Amino acid sequence: MADLRVLTSDFQVLGDNVCPMSSWPLVPFWIDGRRADAHSTRLGIVTNPSTGEQIRSVPLADAADVDAAVQSSRRALPGWRATPPLRRARILARFKELLESNQKSIATLISEEHGKVFLDAMGSVQRGIEVVEFATGAPHLLKGSFSDAVGRDVDAYSILQPVGVCAGITPFNFPAMVPLWMLPVALACGNTFILKPSEKDPSPSILMAELLKEAGLPDGVLNVVHGDKVAVDAILAHPGIDAVSFVGSTPIAKYIYATAAAAGKRVQALGGAKNHAVVMPDADIPFTADAIMGAAYGSAGERCMAISAVVAVGDAGDRLIAELETRIAKLKVAPSLEPGSDMGPVVTAEHRARIVGYIDAGEAAGARLVVDGRPLVVPGHEKGFFVGPTLFDRVTTDMSIYTDEIFGPVLVVVRAASLEEAIGIINRNPYGNGTAIFTRSGAAARIFENEVEVGMIGVNVPIPVPMAFYSFGGWKASLFGDLHVHGTEGVKFYTRTKAVTRRWTEDPAAGSFHMPVLGGK
Ligand code: NAD
Repeated sequence: MADLRVLTSDFQVLGDNVCPMSSWPLVPFWIDGRRADAHSTRLGIVTNPSTGEQIRSVPLADAADVDAAVQSSRRALPGWRATPPLRRARILARFKELLESNQKSIATLISEEHGKVFLDAMGSVQRGIEVVEFATGAPHLLKGSFSDAVGRDVDAYSILQPVGVCAGITPFNFPAMVPLWMLPVALACGNTFILKPSEKDPSPSILMAELLKEAGLPDGVLNVVHGDKVAVDAILAHPGIDAVSFVGSTPIAKYIYATAAAAGKRVQALGGAKNHAVVMPDADIPFTADAIMGAAYGSAGERCMAISAVVAVGDAGDRLIAELETRIAKLKVAPSLEPGSDMGPVVTAEHRARIVGYIDAGEAAGARLVVDGRPLVVPGHEKGFFVGPTLFDRVTTDMSIYTDEIFGPVLVVVRAASLEEAIGIINRNPYGNGTAIFTRSGAAARIFENEVEVGMIGVNVPIPVPMAFYSFGGWKASLFGDLHVHGTEGVKFYTRTKAVTRRWTEDPAAGSFHMPVLGGK
């Protein structure tokens, strides 16, 4: 780790930013192109989940802090909007290079504050970099359409213009990738952007803001404030914010969607998930077990695309459970930055207690607890927020371990007699983020792909996250709004279409008093 450009202790040397109320290093805001202090005196706690200890404090913005970010964003908007898309794209291209050369620094901050293992954190930054790469195509992405001669001496065309000041409110589980789903596309389209990352792991956002400045982004085009509900409500209420992108849990997504829309803002709100994998009897079971291990337990199950429910069809269940048990026994659960660690802790002590509560409830409801992650202790890290990989079989769809998004390393197996029954189970579930089928049958895969009411589908691919040039988004309770993030839907979200009808004529009789009729001039 000697090549890290920004050591995680960096925040400690910020004399100006050490809050007198706290002995912990303070994660700053980013306003007007520099680290900034908060008006608010409320503080949140940032812990290292591997040790269970507090490592930083984070100021929780109030309405005055949000207003400072909005004023900065509004000041920067006219200049950025007028900057040619090609120049905006070149800044993003430099940002992409800086993200690549600082990928380890960002991943280290993620591992430290979130708890996911370093390689997983590196992969998540990579997915974000790919969105920046997509956004460097801004001149092409922002081409409108043109129709020559829609009438005599009249042409018609459309242009795509920025929406204005856009805000992004993001979850704890991907502290770099989810902000990077939003801000590169918003900036490429000529908007200014206010980011309110999760207060649980806020540091990667500040590092990325610094890299964007180094890449040449003018001051005020990106502002970052930290905070909780108070900051979010100030964003939703502020008349200076034109659009809101949200990613997080379903109850908050619903609230954001309704509140932002009522305030007249454009809004997209991505919510939670319960992603199913259907395993058909003809599937290659060892291959499927390998795929499901990563999808269920990678990042300790704290992924919105994690597979948390398997629907095993016919006799696939017994064979799959046996293969999973063998693999779980070999999984190394250890601190996130320890070499060789497969799975780190979950994000907070409260979240760990919630997950353990679900395992208790599943056992009490009569599901077969095949592997119990509750007793796991990581030597030397007894205060860390670890839960071992947990596997339930014979789960029914009325149990809370099936109905609720647990967001931890808990996999439940439900049995079904046929593909039709499996699809019915998935379609009755309120969520519709991602799903996968494991089979050797093209016909079964085709029926699944066609019938299942879910936004992102994998065929022998457990986590079917769309590439940056496609759009990411679920259906039903997993997304409120019309447009998914990044890809062409992201460009639609961050632009407004203007249709122009233009006449340049020297014909003195070209003007018409009445509405033109067919065959008329
Ligand atoms: P969360 O909903 O608790 O928080 C998300 C954001 O909302 C944070 O910035 C937080 O500060 C803010 N927030 C929290 N409580 C709020 C309140 N009462 N009012 C207003 N704002 C509030 O989500 P989380 O725990 O940070 O993230 C995990 C959740 O995010 C899971 O449900 C996961 O499935 C979901 N998620 C979804 C996707 C997707 O693409 N659909 C991607 C990643 C995560």
